[in-house]
Amino acid sequence: MASVFHAYHSPLPYFPYKWQRSHPPRPSVSFPSSSFSRRCQSDARFMATRVKAAASTTPDGRALQVGIAEFYDKSSGLWEDIWGDHMHHGFYDPDSNVSGTDHRAAQIRMIEESLRFAGISEDPAKQPKRIVDVGCGIGGSSRYLARKYGAECQGITLSQVQAGRANVLAKAEGLADNVSFQVADALNQPFPDGQFDLVWSMESGEHMPEKAKFVNELVRVAAPGGTIIIVTWCHRDLGPSEESLQPWEKKLLNRICNAYYLPEWCSTSDYVKLLQSLSLQD
Ligand code: SAH
Repeated sequence: MASVFHAYHSPLPYFPYKWQRSHPPRPSVSFPSSSFSRRCQSDARFMATRVKAAASTTPDGRALQVGIAEFYDKSSGLWEDIWGDHMHHGFYDPDSNVSGTDHRAAQIRMIEESLRFAGISEDPAKQPKRIVDVGCGIGGSSRYLARKYGAECQGITLSQVQAGRANVLAKAEGLADNVSFQVADALNQPFPDGQFDLVWSMESGEHMPEKAKFVNELVRVAAPGGTIIIVTWCHRDLGPSEESLQPWEKKLLNRICNAYYLPEWCSTSDYVKLLQSLSLQD
């Protein structure tokens, strides 16, 4: 098996990431970097957080899953009211000033920039036709990608409410034949090996307690020649003389973890190492 991946990183802990399976297998990697800024959407997550009091991060994966599911069951309606289809950050030009109404367009731009960065072809013959949306929220990416590529898309989420709402929206938008959603764990996906020519994970990786298992599952369900795009939150890479983040950084991250049901963070380099260990190709 071989793969391709690219990574962006920003001054903020954000990591769009693309990896591609190719056939025959030959691994290599590349790391273009780019600067993003992300703003006001954080407010939506903080507002959502107030719906349910923050819980402690737990090493017990099951408790974490239940917490994540409850968190999204309770907050997704509020997020949809504010942000519409998408529960991820927007893509903004550095130092740009945007009005409230521009944020939804910036979310779409994030999707488009991720596809562009991953080198997804505009040639209809080469576009993805079978897509999995891992950590799908209410299915905004799935519907967008299904429409854009005329693809079939399956989304998974831990939240029953999100899966139900995503299916309702797909039906209302005439996409029920192409797009479907179910409750399932990204770490144990209900799909056979090698099913999808685009594996899409938009801001869900930060919830995964076992990054190696997460990445392995993404790889497992990717078809030979398929592409994996991971956009996720990461902490900064450690310096050569550092063994861990600074105490003040850990304290800050812990607050974010407690608010959003996130396990311990990793860096972009950690993801890169993981993917390199799987013999990936650029
Ligand atoms: N990708 C969506 C939603 C991002 S919010 C969007 O861009 O709009 C994070 C999503 O990850 C939620 O839907 C949550 O249920 C999902 N998630 C978190 N941990 C998961 C897991 N272990 N398995 C499946 N989905 C998970």
